[in-house]
This record gives sequence, C-alpha cells and structure tokens, in this order.
Amino acid sequence: MGLGTKLAEGLLEMVYPTRCAGCDLPGGVLCDECRARIAFIEAATACSRCGAPFGWLICTECWDRELAFSQAVSVGTLEHPLSRAVTVYKDAGERRLAGTLAELLAQAVEPWRDWASVVTYVPATARARNRRGFDHAAEISATLASALVVPHATLLTRRRALDQRLLGRLERLSNAEGTFEAIASVQGDVLLVDDVLTTGATVQDAARALTEAGADEVRVVTVARAW
Ligand SMILES: [Zn+2]
Ligand SMILES: [Zn+2]
Repeated sequence: MGLGTKLAEGLLEMVYPTRCAGCDLPGGVLCDECRARIAFIEAATACSRCGAPFGWLICTECWDRELAFSQAVSVGTLEHPLSRAVTVYKDAGERRLAGTLAELLAQAVEPWRDWASVVTYVPATARARNRRGFDHAAEISATLASALVVPHATLLTRRRALDQRLLGRLERLSNAEGTFEAIASVQGDVLLVDDVLTTGATVQDAARALTEAGADEVRVVTVARAW
C-alpha cells in the first residue's frame, strides 16, 4: 500500500471511524466484546445432521425430514450481535464484514477441513442483488474458499419465477419444483454457503439441485441459524 493511500485511509478513519456492527462503538468492524457475545452453536450439543443447537441425542427438528444435504452447521443462533452483523453487512453495505463472517465460517467448518472439493453459495434473488449492488453470500463464500484453499465456483442460479397465474396446471406443478438449478455439471463434495438458515427450505432446494447435477455430497454452512 502506498503512502498516499495509507494517508487517505488514515484521514478517512479520523472523519468516519470504523464502527462495530454489534455495538456501534468505533474500532473494528466487529469488536472483541461483541464477538465474545455471539450465541455460538456448540458442536458437542448440536444435531450432527441438521445443526440444530440442542439436537445431539435426539433432534426434534430433523428426525422425520429427508434432507438433500448430509450435514449442516451454523456459527450461531440468529441473535444479537450476529443478527445485526449480518444485517449491517448485507443491507448497510459494510462489505468489510465479509472477512469477519468468513473467518467465523472457517472456524465452524474446521472439523471438515480438507473435505470439500469446491465451495459455492446460495445466489441472492436478482432484485436483492440489484438493490445491494453485490451478492452477499457470494462474497463471504469466496473469502471462505480462499481461507480454506479450496476452489470457489458459482454453481447455482435461481429459476426465473414465472407468474403462476399465467401457467396451466401441469406447468404450475413443475414451476413449483425447485427454486434453483445448476448452471454447470458438478463433481465431488460441495460446501454450500448461505448467510442465514431459516426454515432450511432454501438450502434444501439448493442442495437438491447440486446433487442432481452430480455432486457426491453436499454440506451446508451458514453464519446464523433461525430454524
Ligand atoms: Zn462491539
Ligand atoms: Zn437435526
């Protein structure tokens, strides 16, 4: 970095100090205190299949569900300050948080080190991408992939949402089949990244599309979990 750039950054920092996404105090993008307050999901008590926080022995969330992915983990539950960090990153445009969020994801997938052949993400809707000017999950998954030293690829696209009213009954059925489709053939083990796991339906759909396109196994990692 040149002296001029450093100077400009220093001045900018004096006028608009970086604020913590959790507590708003000047300093880093997520201060140490807020980081310590994250409601982390402990692997020792979580469901080893769907990642539910207290499902280690019997998981009431997934025991009767067929899942298109083999395992899922999340950094923490969708609570403050993780929830605010996700919102500040996505909707307030604090893109420097991508590094912090990817670092938290890397810790969450530490037990899967060297497992993935490729890292991909759940693509945002075109509307959300246009509004924000970037694809939020793409950025954190690319950062995660480079931290893991695993190739990163865009493998999924959202099917164009057709207006249900204009379709016949059969067409309506197939239009409801899945939100995502693979844009390339997929090989090996795929690590699928998303920001928040809500009902699990989105990653379920995305994982199914990846498996149908040839993935051997799909595992999911999300920053937060609401389900
Ligand atoms: Zn803070
Ligand atoms: Zn479970």
